[in-house]
Amino acid sequence: MSKVMIIGAGGVGGVVAHKCAQLPEVFSEIMLASRTESKCKAIAEQLNRPIRTAQVDADNVPELTALLKKETPDLVINVALPYQDLSIMDACLAAGVDYMDTANYEPLETAKFEYSWQWAYQDKFQQAGLTALLGSGFDPGATNVFTAYVAKHYFDEIHELDIIDVNGGDHGYPFATNFNPEINIREVSAECRHWENGEFVSTPPMSKKATFTCPENVGTYNIYRMYHEELESLSKHFPSLKRAQFWMSFSDNYLKHLEVLGNVGMTGIEAIEYKGQQIVPIQLLAHLLPDPASLGPRTKGNTCIGCVVRGVKDDKEKIVYIYNIKDHQDCYKEVQSQAISYTTGVPAMIGAKMILQGHWKKAGVWNIEQFDPDPFMEDMNRYGLPWKVIELDTFSLL
Ligand code: NDP
Repeated sequence: MSKVMIIGAGGVGGVVAHKCAQLPEVFSEIMLASRTESKCKAIAEQLNRPIRTAQVDADNVPELTALLKKETPDLVINVALPYQDLSIMDACLAAGVDYMDTANYEPLETAKFEYSWQWAYQDKFQQAGLTALLGSGFDPGATNVFTAYVAKHYFDEIHELDIIDVNGGDHGYPFATNFNPEINIREVSAECRHWENGEFVSTPPMSKKATFTCPENVGTYNIYRMYHEELESLSKHFPSLKRAQFWMSFSDNYLKHLEVLGNVGMTGIEAIEYKGQQIVPIQLLAHLLPDPASLGPRTKGNTCIGCVVRGVKDDKEKIVYIYNIKDHQDCYKEVQSQAISYTTGVPAMIGAKMILQGHWKKAGVWNIEQFDPDPFMEDMNRYGLPWKVIELDTFSLL
């Protein structure tokens, strides 16, 4: 029986609220707090039981600390934006509350994300006896747990990892992003980095393309190598990895729009002056694009996200593919959201459950793959993200 505070009432926050509300035996009290309280109330109205809502600016540490002290939740589930990670961690420390999130910290003024800022909180959380769980979405999140699970059950040592994120869904708009547009575009237009022989190797964005055929007739898609934050933690926590890469599917249409928007300066993150007003182009663009939370009714098709892992077991080489397939419309029927928010929100709920039930309760700051993957994997099957493991004879994306 625990009380949680979900911070952020966007696409992901809506799914987390739905999934927590479905489990009253674990999440006995739920508060949804966000910058715009009307969005919290709109989500609350969709749920099968009452939850409370609040307005909070999570950039403001004293304001959030005061709310946490007043409400005394056991855990904060941070599904606001990566910009708020550190201020929410500070408020959790000040109020004595456990913390978790789905995306690593990124400074507003620099399009750069890495774990160093949050890893630096290790001593503070340890001394306070509090748990901070980082990256409990799908990727990062389930993909890290998939890696830990196959490393534990299928291999003596893992050597190569390819994380492949395919979204075979179509929302019918010429251009829209499936999660926060500003974060999505910053991520996709970043320089690519992958792990190779003990170091990160940089290549230009979208410069490496491959084709991937998903199982179960989901289809064949163009995928592009890009940097993703779980590469940083997985290469650290699985030092036997010689190579680790992340791939995501993009349609030609999406890439063409992104290229044009970049060429005309609409993806810039620095403020420009326009008619006496300071405007950040990417923020204006995000404002103009469809709200990801509104894509649910119109998105059709499947996501297929998983990890191909190569390694050795009993001195023999083997290749294992572990994946989840999720239908956008099934998600919409269950929680009024498309599958990108769903596949993020369900692992966030499960990560919270792991902490609250004590499976993953440990003082300090942890990436998700540092805990025992088994109870999390059982809950993925139980709460809407069933996964499969298949062994492959060959695999190559080069
Ligand atoms: P949205 O933009 O839909 O929602 C973000 C919410 O956070 C909004 O309700 C917003 O408020 C609120 N918010 C923003 N700033 C503040 C603040 N200062 N104080 C309080 N609330 C604030 O984003 P998504 O739901 O798509 O994404 C949420 C998070 O999930 C992001 O960090 C994203 O990177 C992460 N994510 C992780 C994935 C994974 O697999 N690991 C995949 C997809 C997303 P307002 O309504 O006023 O704008």
